[in-house]
Amino acid sequence: MEKIKMTTPLVEMDGDEMTRILWADIKKLLIEPFVDLKTEYYDLGLPHRDETNDQVTIDSANAAKKYGVAVKCATITPNAQRMTEYNLHQMWKSPNGTIRAMLDGTVFRAPILVSGIKPTVRTWKKPITIARHAYGDVYRNVEMKVPGTGKAELVFTAADGTETRQTVFTFEGPGILQGVHNLDASIESFAHACFQYALNVKQDLWFSTKDTISKTYDHTFKDIFQEIYEKHYQEAFQAANLTYFYTLIDDAVARVVRSEGGFIWACKNYDGDVMSDMVATAFGSLAMMTSVLVSPDGKFEYEAAHGTVTRHYYRYLKGEETSTNPVATIFAWTGALRKRGELDSLPDLMAFADKLEKATLDTIESGVMTKDLALMWDGPCQAVNSREFLTAIAEKMV
Ligand code: NAP
Ligand code: MG
Repeated sequence: MEKIKMTTPLVEMDGDEMTRILWADIKKLLIEPFVDLKTEYYDLGLPHRDETNDQVTIDSANAAKKYGVAVKCATITPNAQRMTEYNLHQMWKSPNGTIRAMLDGTVFRAPILVSGIKPTVRTWKKPITIARHAYGDVYRNVEMKVPGTGKAELVFTAADGTETRQTVFTFEGPGILQGVHNLDASIESFAHACFQYALNVKQDLWFSTKDTISKTYDHTFKDIFQEIYEKHYQEAFQAANLTYFYTLIDDAVARVVRSEGGFIWACKNYDGDVMSDMVATAFGSLAMMTSVLVSPDGKFEYEAAHGTVTRHYYRYLKGEETSTNPVATIFAWTGALRKRGELDSLPDLMAFADKLEKATLDTIESGVMTKDLALMWDGPCQAVNSREFLTAIAEKMV
């Protein structure tokens, strides 16, 4: 059989621990036998990030900017314990944070559905994708404890020295105080990423904030989305028969729970943090959650939503068998290959991505799956280790 050809390399960002092991197996068993795989390889494994003073992360993000499509393995974000474990020169920043900042991207997270694992919310039939704004608000807050009586004020000093002042509250006893901010430019990027992603995957876009209470702050988000929609995307949405609508977050929550799914829900930073955990849990498992970072100028970085599955890796190092779920990592590869195929007009590559996703889901639906899924499965099934699971998928590919 002749292998499928690629024209532009995928930016491949390798990672750490158990997911690094799965990464190599996925390539060897599921991709390389069928595709003449062309990648530009960056090793973001922690030892190599340390050796290069994290330059490799920056280089990989620049490559993603250059080529437009990247696929990333989960990576360790170092903490104090990792400093000793890996004998690091420095507590390097989260690679995802670095890449996100360089691509100025928005993260879209969507669950992978299989029949046999029923969402907790009975009406959900199609995935719900959460688009989370990744800048500002409470994540960049300044806050303080107020000791007692006194006046809290909001003061803005313009570059020319002019002051604008507003009373926040006049305290008559102890309390607490918080200041948050956001940037028009960041909200604009977020809006562009959401509209483009919706057109890309051909799904409706919902956006919600608390603008009835936050009449300036949240209302600015609403206005920027509306302006950008009308100016840049309305025609394309109408032509594609898609809907964009804004609604109050309370209303959005109620509608989401009553919906069938199959849309994108754009959320402010905090709302997206909380709602994506709720949606992921209600759909089943973090190991079945895909994640893609999309920049406003249309660059894509695909990954799994979970981490490096450290506990399984330590067992693997002891020579024990592990049943780690590779599905989200497989879907990161198929997402990236399909996008590469689309950009380079390679229908065979796109069809391959579809076929591999189908083989993966068919394997699970035939009752063969990793342990995490077996625990949630409705009915009899066979729990296998990661290697056996990948081999079962490979058998469906020929
Ligand atoms: P994690 O790797 O997502 O794993 C947490 C637990 O969830 C696992 O111990 C396992 O539970 C279960 N799990 C997650 N993915 C699974 C899979 N594919 N198959 C089966 N079970 C799965 O999170 P963590 O342990 O908090 O973080 C580990 C490392 O990953 C950290 O160093 C962190 O910095 C990094 N991290 C990276 C990313 C990223 O690169 N995007 C994201 C998050 C975390 P059981 O042990 O109960 O089976
Ligand atoms: Mg969270």
